Amino acid sequence: MRWQSVTGRTRTLTDTSRALSRRTLLARLAAAPVALTAAAAPVTAQTQAKTAAEQAQAALKGAKGTKLVLLGTGAGPGGQGPERTRKMTSYVMLSNGAAYVLDCGVGVIDQYARTGIPFPGLRSIFITHHHADHNIEYGPLLVVGWINGMPLDVRAFGPPPLKQMTEDLLRAYKTTVDFWADDLKMKPLVRVDVEEMSAAGPVMQDDNVTVSAIVVEHPPVKPALGYRFDFKDRSIAFSGDTAASEVVAKMAKGADVLVHEAMYLPAIETYIHGEIAKGRPIKFEDLMAHMKADHTPVEDVGRIAQEAGIKTLVLSHLIPAFDGINDDTWRAPAAK
Ligand SMILES: [Zn+2]
Ligand SMILES: [Zn+2]
Repeated sequence: MRWQSVTGRTRTLTDTSRALSRRTLLARLAAAPVALTAAAAPVTAQTQAKTAAEQAQAALKGAKGTKLVLLGTGAGPGGQGPERTRKMTSYVMLSNGAAYVLDCGVGVIDQYARTGIPFPGLRSIFITHHHADHNIEYGPLLVVGWINGMPLDVRAFGPPPLKQMTEDLLRAYKTTVDFWADDLKMKPLVRVDVEEMSAAGPVMQDDNVTVSAIVVEHPPVKPALGYRFDFKDRSIAFSGDTAASEVVAKMAKGADVLVHEAMYLPAIETYIHGEIAKGRPIKFEDLMAHMKADHTPVEDVGRIAQEAGIKTLVLSHLIPAFDGINDDTWRAPAAK
């Protein structure tokens, strides 16, 4: 087990896009870890985040063609402590000025704002499944988005009970929304157009993109979805949270980009042993079996990407989302 506490790496995002042309540039905004460069002084996380934000803004400015920004690449309930700098899972795609957000883990609002994409451009929000690392900042995004000019006809898509959740959230925020609406003479956000999906198939289509969904393996969450976005100039597929699945390979067939979840088993094993040593009443075999039934070991991600014949593989939703695991540790097993 190699814990490289601090490395020269300054990116948290692991991908294999470097060999690709500028056309397929991935703007990167995953919060960067505190890093010590080989011969330099420590750089604060804040400075790094700003740099990542500036890079993303530069990449998006006057962008011709569709861009994908990784807003958060960390998995699971952790990731918010001072030693953990990856945000929870969320992404934004920008195409012809329209923004499409996929998943809303903690950090989505700040990270979206850092891209410089205006909130009035936010057109649709997609949720893969109802684990908190994918949906917990959905309600806040609606309210903060609204006050910053998000259109009232924004649409949301995801598995049930997204409709009920949206209504309940807006009911909970009503007093808050009304205060600002009154202060700023704005039309209050009272409802959101929600489309629920429980099965594979088409999700939506507009002038930029056609979106379809698949049902993936993420017990006991049912349904958990993966998505494919076919923009006019590029296609981007997302595995969502899933065990290694041929369904994902099929869905992603021929896509330009596959954003796939990834799990690094040696680190999970070390983590679980550590928790048991601390006295947590968990059984090693049980938890490992759960992890394997729910998530994809990173070596399988490489195989799935190859099967699908995708051009760029992006490893995301990293399990565990520890900063100490460097990019090469993630990349090598997938590259095999
Ligand atoms: Zn997750
Ligand atoms: Zn999940």
